[in-house]
Amino acid sequence: MQAEIIIIGAGMAGLMAGRVLAAAGKKILILDKGRRIGGRMSSRRDAGLLFNHGAQFVTAHSPIFKDICDQAAAKGIVGLWPATGRDTAFSGQPSMRDIASFIGADLAIQQEVEIEKIDRLDKGGFTLHAKSPSENGSPHYHCQHILLTAPAPQAARLLQPLSQQLSDVAAGVRYAPSWIVMAELQQVPDNLAPVLIDKGIIGWASCEASRPGASPSGAVTIQASAAYSQKFLESPAEKITADLLADFARQHNNTSLNWGYQRAHRWRYAKVIQPAGADTPFMEIQTGSLLATAGDWHPVAASPIRPASGARAEEAVLSGHRAAHEMLQKMAS
Ligand SMILES: Cc1cc2nc3c(=O)[nH]c(=O)nc-3n(C[C@H](O)[C@H](O)[C@H](O)COP(=O)(O)OP(=O)(O)OC[C@H]3O[C@@H](n4cnc5c(N)ncnc54)[C@H](O)[C@@H]3O)c2cc1C
Repeated sequence: MQAEIIIIGAGMAGLMAGRVLAAAGKKILILDKGRRIGGRMSSRRDAGLLFNHGAQFVTAHSPIFKDICDQAAAKGIVGLWPATGRDTAFSGQPSMRDIASFIGADLAIQQEVEIEKIDRLDKGGFTLHAKSPSENGSPHYHCQHILLTAPAPQAARLLQPLSQQLSDVAAGVRYAPSWIVMAELQQVPDNLAPVLIDKGIIGWASCEASRPGASPSGAVTIQASAAYSQKFLESPAEKITADLLADFARQHNNTSLNWGYQRAHRWRYAKVIQPAGADTPFMEIQTGSLLATAGDWHPVAASPIRPASGARAEEAVLSGHRAAHEMLQKMAS
């Protein structure tokens, strides 16, 4: 399959870059190994319940992301979420993944395609090898330029045979893991806190019904604290579920909470705790072909949220935006 530019990753960085490049008339294709668009902007619908088990909310400090949030708000896709106690927190209405879908609308995207290896061709361009055949039956993709937006550890591995420099930058990035429990309260008590922050072993817990546009439900999404997630990273899901539900009950002084649906999810790479340096390279050119990287892990130096963390969806958007514009500039020169 041919495209001028292949973007690996349909998270916020890859989608934003795809939007910029497609708007400039470039033929792009986005490949993502996940079942659904959005990467860590993820929502799960199960047993008639909706859980947002990745990013809980987004903030928009930059004109670029503010503009996207305003456009999405005008279509009823995002709304302010006052229950967070912040006047700048936006949530999907009520699905966070819908924000990613909005950014990626009309882009050429293939899900469930995992790129295992990339070869650089002597005459310029790249061949990408997928783990399993794509829709057209071929496990190979060809393109002139690549933008890689996988989380840094996965990016480092793919970059290793192509660029020692870019691979080393990605290899220096560190993430905190996160355990998440999604569960349903069968009776919702009156004193239920819509959001809990940093209580006991809970880093963040959301009552999904408190999001803008949400229907009433007992769906609760609980994120373990970073310290707990690290300590019990390899523990069984049953232990994590029991610990977090017990702590949630303790925080509400209510030991008789009645739980129905329960499911745990582990993110090995949840939030960036050590991003790539602002002045480290994110692009190389060889034989007329660009190899670029973007993602929350490679935040933009001039961003209004720098020197924050690299742990925010907005940083992924700005990183994708920067990479796309740099690629356009280099392609034009
Ligand atoms: C539990 C949790 C809570 C969070 N809370 C917040 C919050 O409240 N607010 C906030 O702003 N941010 C939050 N974040 C961070 C935010 O979700 C991320 O910063 C942002 O979504 C990252 O976007 P990205 O495009 O850089 O990466 P991702 O979203 O990780 O996208 C990368 C994509 O690459 C794909 N991929 C990887 N390897 C391959 C391969 N080999 N082939 C094909 N595809 C591949 C993946 O499937 C993925 O879809 C949270 C994250 C987590 C996990």
